[in-house]
Amino acid sequence: MVLTSLQVKQKAIELGFDLCGISPVEDFSELSFLSTWINRGYAGEMDWMARSVSRRSDVRKILPGATSVISTATIYNVDRPYSTENTESSAALISRYAWGDDYHDVLQSRLDKLVTWMHKASEGLFEAKAYVDTGPIQERVYAQHAGIGWIGKNTCIINPILGSWLFLAEVVCTLLLEPDPPALNQCGTCNLCIEACPTGAIAAPYELDSTRCLSYLTIEKRGDIPTDYRSELGTRIYGCDICQEVCPYNQPAAISKDSSWQPRHGLDQPTLSELWLMSDDAVGNLLKGSAITRAKLSGLRRNIAVAMGNAGEVDTLVKSKDATDQRISVNDEMVQRHVRWLVEE
Ligand code: SF4
Ligand code: SF4
Repeated sequence: MVLTSLQVKQKAIELGFDLCGISPVEDFSELSFLSTWINRGYAGEMDWMARSVSRRSDVRKILPGATSVISTATIYNVDRPYSTENTESSAALISRYAWGDDYHDVLQSRLDKLVTWMHKASEGLFEAKAYVDTGPIQERVYAQHAGIGWIGKNTCIINPILGSWLFLAEVVCTLLLEPDPPALNQCGTCNLCIEACPTGAIAAPYELDSTRCLSYLTIEKRGDIPTDYRSELGTRIYGCDICQEVCPYNQPAAISKDSSWQPRHGLDQPTLSELWLMSDDAVGNLLKGSAITRAKLSGLRRNIAVAMGNAGEVDTLVKSKDATDQRISVNDEMVQRHVRWLVEE
């Protein structure tokens, strides 16, 4: 049979995606902004972005003959308070998307099932490539043109009904599928995300300076966190959700019942000292199959150290180390530089 857009979208929903839309492959004007963004230095140490800028400008460079992009969105929000509502000074704040299972694994498996089904259901041959965040694709641009949501001033995809706590994942293919209408921008005169960002990282509407963003600094940045931003971290140890938490379209946002995104034991509102005092092996077990591994163990220890300094828990940072200590990563020179800085502050 000839596969239709409707059939593909129905199958995607059946496989656990919350939204699915189709965009054509075109030279969308938004795609060209990436090189400007990189030239402004906003990518920081993410050299891989600059290296792949040409491929990221057009999906036909990763799949010649591509004609459609099937974009999916999956709600990861769960029933827990926002970080800005947290009054517990010893709480270790972790971005909502990282509380459950690693979305790369969960969504890649669902996308693979979708592509397998498409090949079985389609009477013609076609090529397809499936990506979950890691591919050289400007997925938000395609998601916007597929009607999933618009790219907000905070640079996140926002669906007017579900909000912005959404994982994106897509299939680029050589099938000619009927496209959906693009989503309309509904930010209007709102500037709440820009005003709420503690580091001024939203340099202008729709322009994120990663080098100032707490998500970049706690996840992607290797080495030292610049001293200017350490106090702004508060008790955030992995990522930052503030510019999404204040967004009117997340008041309230849709909640997922999917077991994959429920906070795993140990990541459900942990305290800073609990995590700091855990052995390296225990942290490794806790983070097995979690997206948090991207920060590396030393990066996570660095973040926890800064957060404990901000929470007034410097004493715990320097005590409890003896010959039997199972926290080798705490002795990492970079982590200890942060600890010394906090002690001397
Ligand atoms: S994630 Fe946090 S630091 Fe980054 S832009 Fe949003 S509010 Fe600012
Ligand atoms: S907070 Fe306001 S300006 Fe920012 S993304 Fe949401 S609606 Fe747009």
